[in-house]
Amino acid sequence: MALYGGIEAGGTKFVCAVGTGPEDVRREVRFATGTPAESIARSVEFFQEAQADLGPLAAVGIASFGPIDPDPASATFGYVTTTPKPGWANTDFVGQVRRALGVPVGFDTDVNVAALGEHRWGAAQGLNTFIYLTVGTGIGGGAMVNGKLVHGLMHPEMGHIRIPHDRTADPFAGCCSYHGDCLEGLACGPAIAARWGVSATELGPEHPAWDLEADYLANGLVNLMLPVSPQRIVMGGGVMEQEHLFPRIRRRVQELLNGYIQAEAIVHGIDAYIVPPALGNRSGALGAIALAELAAS
Ligand code: ADP
Ligand code: ZN
Repeated sequence: MALYGGIEAGGTKFVCAVGTGPEDVRREVRFATGTPAESIARSVEFFQEAQADLGPLAAVGIASFGPIDPDPASATFGYVTTTPKPGWANTDFVGQVRRALGVPVGFDTDVNVAALGEHRWGAAQGLNTFIYLTVGTGIGGGAMVNGKLVHGLMHPEMGHIRIPHDRTADPFAGCCSYHGDCLEGLACGPAIAARWGVSATELGPEHPAWDLEADYLANGLVNLMLPVSPQRIVMGGGVMEQEHLFPRIRRRVQELLNGYIQAEAIVHGIDAYIVPPALGNRSGALGAIALAELAAS
């Protein structure tokens, strides 16, 4: 059975894994994201050692923070492009890994790859159109439509959509450096901390922060559901560790849709429609292995 490598490259940490799927991760390493040279060299060394011990890798998949260039026809395919992360703008991520390891390399956004992982082994198995949204340090979404991960001009940037913001009820201006009060600016983990003056991890489930958070996230979901018509929405990321958010978001989505979408999944089945990732916080690393499978085929 072919062995694959996966890199989940986050703005704060890297996870590299070798295996064939969730039940068969043979080796894994995590380290803090450093400079591109350091982080890529460390990933390559990990895979070289794994190959020496476990046998050759058929391909590597990379799930990267972005913005990135995922278009194989582009001159800068495989690059981390315009990221504000110091040192990382214009980094040829795929080229360096491919040259060092000599195997095919798949490349996509962290959230598209998490969506792929959930499709291959998790909460989106058997679906062809769904959204994976992460609510953490930022908000990002990946989407599969008609069986394909969505790219297009670049890749979706679902966290930066606009939602209603009642400045009387919530005077917080938002923390997105580009848009202020876009969805991410209002509802990411740092926005919660800035609005209430205490980390999102410290707020009890009865704190008013959570009804407001559920309202913003539900508005974001409705804005994504109407154009994309996903068969399911998977919500991960640190903020969604607050499990009580799920029932609040589901109820608010139903209220906002106001009966317009008469699908069984929304009207009676919403508990199975807006769900946490079945792979937990492993969607990205396992998705990178699924991406490697695709790169090898
Ligand atoms: P990243 O976005 O860097 O990949 P996370 O998805 O863990 O990482 O998101 C980190 C953000 O999520 C931080 O703003 C943190 O305060 C918030 N967060 C992490 N865990 C929790 C939790 N259990 N409850 C609420 N917020 C959390
Ligand atoms: Zn924004």
